[in-house]
Amino acid sequence: MAATDPDCLFCKIVAGDVPAEIVRRGERTLAFRDINPQAPTHVLVIPHEHFADAAAAAAAGTGLTDEMVREAHEVAVADGVAESGYRVVFNTGSGAGQTVFHVHAHVLGGRGLQWPPG
Ligand code: C5P
Repeated sequence: MAATDPDCLFCKIVAGDVPAEIVRRGERTLAFRDINPQAPTHVLVIPHEHFADAAAAAAAGTGLTDEMVREAHEVAVADGVAESGYRVVFNTGSGAGQTVFHVHAHVLGGRGLQWPPG
């Protein structure tokens, strides 16, 4: 049984208790459109299982973060932004802008993306 946190917003999205525009559903991951999109494609890929951040998910040693990156690529292909280029971002820690402490990969594309990011 995967770990969940009853107070976690993204666990509630996985459970279907909070609505989201879901674009892909895998055995271990879910992808949905960000409610405050920062680019024409802005999708979040999350695991069903609750981990606070990418480091915690990677430390579990189950290949989950690899799977999230593969899913991010499938999202980019499906949205037609893989060829032009897209960005996968794991904000990690509040100082880096993480506001939801259930690991998520932002998939951003469909416009020119600047470097360095803000
Ligand atoms: O990396 P960070 O933790 O800041 O990202 C959280 C993201 O979750 C934000 O981009 C926010 O717009 C998104 N969000 C969402 N649906 C919610 C709540 C937050 O897509 N119900």
